[in-house]
Amino acid sequence: MTDKYDVIVIGGGPGGYAAAIRAAQHGFKTACIEKRVGAEGKPALGGTCLNVGCIPSKALLDSSWKFHEAQQSFAEHGIQVDGVKIDVAAMQKRKDSVVAQLTGGIASLFQANKVTWLQGTGKLLAGKAIEFTPLDGGASQTLNAEHVILAAGSEPVEIPVAPLVEDKVVDSTGALAFTEVPKRLGVIGAGIIGLELGSVWSRLGAEVVVLEAVDTLLANVDKQIAREAGKTFKKQGLDIRLGARVLSTDTDGDEVKVTYADKDGEHTETFDKLIVAVGRRPNTNGLLAPDSGVTFDERNYIFADNQCRTEVTGVYAIGDLVRGPALAHKALEEGVMVADVIAGEHTQVNYDAIAAVIYTHPEIAWVGKTEDEVKAAGDNYKTGVVPFAANGRALASGEATGMVKFVADADNDRILGMHVIGPQASELIQQGVIALEFGATIEDLQLMVFSHPTLSETVHEAALAADFKAIHIAQRRRK
Ligand code: FAD
Ligand code: NAD
Repeated sequence: MTDKYDVIVIGGGPGGYAAAIRAAQHGFKTACIEKRVGAEGKPALGGTCLNVGCIPSKALLDSSWKFHEAQQSFAEHGIQVDGVKIDVAAMQKRKDSVVAQLTGGIASLFQANKVTWLQGTGKLLAGKAIEFTPLDGGASQTLNAEHVILAAGSEPVEIPVAPLVEDKVVDSTGALAFTEVPKRLGVIGAGIIGLELGSVWSRLGAEVVVLEAVDTLLANVDKQIAREAGKTFKKQGLDIRLGARVLSTDTDGDEVKVTYADKDGEHTETFDKLIVAVGRRPNTNGLLAPDSGVTFDERNYIFADNQCRTEVTGVYAIGDLVRGPALAHKALEEGVMVADVIAGEHTQVNYDAIAAVIYTHPEIAWVGKTEDEVKAAGDNYKTGVVPFAANGRALASGEATGMVKFVADADNDRILGMHVIGPQASELIQQGVIALEFGATIEDLQLMVFSHPTLSETVHEAALAADFKAIHIAQRRRK
């Protein structure tokens, strides 16, 4: 194996694989080091996202939603189905095959683009050298590259009060692999993972209790949207307890006992499984030699400037390793940006226009500023809010929960944020991304013609509503 490359990427997740492919497209001799062994016991590309994150969770969310619909809403459409049952093994097999298809797809893309996949662990040494330890047990070797991209991702945070216990107290990876539906499922953390995975098992019949330390649900989501989310989750039977501080867990016996404290005192709940979903932290374990020269920021992420340069010339860090939202699309775009920067292009990720999506049902999605953020900044602003209950397509498909909300600058009409809870929010939010990227005004959206009947008409109406011009809801201008 050659030991000299133009670009070496450590980590083959969305950040790393995209960086490697784009670097190879630029004509750089590129290698990507990835240590992961996938579910089938074979080396796997795709990182957290494809193996144990975005993709398997969405596969289970989709399967469990179909089950829920067959049980709860088919009848309303006149479809009679008796004896609907869930076969968890078949559902998991489908999820695994989706994962295998996609991770195999990245390996094919590497081949097509002539990216060398080095299967093993990479460590950055002093002077930009890399120690590579192969998965097959071969001897470690030192590799060199003009440019190094660190893309080692993140791992779940563990808390001392709830240590993981195989098959009983699990992190998100364990919760994606349950072989049966738990009767009573506890979840610590009402963040994105807690809500998505709590929803999966709740739809399949588990009684789910979510214990959240903070006393506000979805504290970083626009308040109006978060309130609607809270109401909907309650209706769906998710028992979310806010201000609940877990004090201890006891895994003796078949069950898991969780003791927590809230404003009313101490309580104990018993579950057959417990998911710990209290956040993720950068995966820097073993990644850097003490004298690598790479430094950390105040939150213990690898320090990176807005083009992902670390303090070592020629070494970049991207994705979950660095500041900003821990999202696959953010990691991917940073990887592409870094490869383009290495090739001498002038480019910049627009960190102000990165959408976030929670794939519950209804989905929750947002981009840009919340109303509270704009208010706190003292800006003169306006909002436009329209419910999906006023949308023909949403009603026709029986998906009329939720709303679209715009926050805009009242002086120059510029769109500052878009917030959606409702059907296809994950798709609709891309209209907000495009609007923010183009610096669009509310009037720009008002003057566009949206197809009828589509969910997107609610985006149009919400823009109209910002100036009291909505057609399909009764609006009274505030004096
Ligand atoms: P990762 O995907 O974590 O990849 C890093 C890779 O580096 C890993 O495969 C690791 O094995 C490898 N590695 C680490 N250290 C070394 C080393 N020293 N040598 C060699 N290899 C190494 N985000 C979304 O945008 N949408 C979603 O729907 C979504 N759903 C999620 C669901 C779950 C359950 C979880 C856990 C996460 C989810 N995320 C989602 C977050 C998303 O997975 C991450 O933001 C994304 O994977 C980060 O990409 P990355 O390339 O930075 O790192
Ligand atoms: P999170 O930061 O979204 O939520 C963690 C929650 O746990 C917070 O509400 C926090 O207040 C709570 N918490 C922290 N410590 C606690 C404790 N001791 N007891 C009770 N509650 C506690 O983290 P996550 O849900 O673990 O997800 C990690 C990251 O993965 C997310 O930030 C997100 O970036 C990414 N992710 C994204 C998606 C998506 O894009 N759809 C899906 C899953 C994960």
